[in-house]
Amino acid sequence: MKIKDILKESKKPFPSLEIVPPLKGMTAKELTDSVRPFMDFCPKYINVTTHRDEYEYRQGPDGTFSRCLVRNRVSAVAVCGVIMSEFKVEVVPHIICGGTTAEEIESKLYDLRFMGIDNVMALRGDSMTGEKRFTPEPGGYGYAGMLVEGIRAFERKIGENCFSIGVGGYPEKHFEAPNLETDIDNLKRKVDAGADYIITQMFFDNEVYYRYVGKCRDAGITVPIIPGLKPLSTARQVSMLPESFSLDIPVGLTEAIREAGDDKRAVYEIGTQWCIMQCRDLLAHGVPAVHFYTMGKSENIVRILKECF
Ligand code: FAD
Repeated sequence: MKIKDILKESKKPFPSLEIVPPLKGMTAKELTDSVRPFMDFCPKYINVTTHRDEYEYRQGPDGTFSRCLVRNRVSAVAVCGVIMSEFKVEVVPHIICGGTTAEEIESKLYDLRFMGIDNVMALRGDSMTGEKRFTPEPGGYGYAGMLVEGIRAFERKIGENCFSIGVGGYPEKHFEAPNLETDIDNLKRKVDAGADYIITQMFFDNEVYYRYVGKCRDAGITVPIIPGLKPLSTARQVSMLPESFSLDIPVGLTEAIREAGDDKRAVYEIGTQWCIMQCRDLLAHGVPAVHFYTMGKSENIVRILKECF
């Protein structure tokens, strides 16, 4: 079933989840065991991230270097196949522009259609490690909006309406955008190109999300904007998350974590309770769904789901 129809038909807000494919070498059983604890809460769909291939230079016995492909994780498509057959839940593989040509993406879309997958999340992806700005592959897409157009063109080519398409939104602005207004204009381009809904980057202050939704509506974006949440779980994340995702952590949360000092369990508890508070408030404000970034961890997310859904 398409996410746009799930969103239309759902009578009450629901949780959805995002997982990261396991490292190569892990088994399908290890994957399903890690997802099973969430299934009691009937998530309507599970997103599976995609990670760009990296390259490294390895020195051969003759002293020369050669460029080698490093692919550490199982593919999103393989993970989606296992999850679909084990749990009968909708899956949403992420498709990224980075490191891929339009032709390769078209082949992937044929695979997804063959597997009966009705949903995709269209993203640009980040630049390669060591690269300053994102550079598209020759013959690839430069922005997520171009990818959305490419997916809709594929559908026209085969004469089928195959996919509901989600895109990313940034309540605290994408780090490359000169200002939030320009970023929202670019978000509108993705929606105008055919995206059905938006999932936001994680945020820790709901007011930031409410203001963002207001600005998106003022800009003429009418599709659902699903908030993305991640419970903070370690003190290190107080500096790591703003650096990696270009977001703010509210003073109330940083202060509480500072006071917890070296007590790891207390920090974990503070992060979980903060997320519960955010989730309850979002639900009280009538959001259509809440999306959880699980990062492969289940204990805190399960507790939040138990408290809120
Ligand atoms: P875009 O929408 O293309 O935007 C990128 C930048 O370009 C923004 O600053 C935007 O304002 C600007 N821009 C957009 N369109 C135009 C235009 N036409 N002209 C000029 N400027 C423009 N990354 C992964 O590698 N794998 C994942 O699985 C993944 N999942 C994610 C899931 C969610 C819900 C979110 C929010 C992010 C995810 N990301 C993932 C991270 C994402 O790939 C990065 O944040 C990336 O830097 C931007 O991707 P985007 O799709 O938002 O890009």
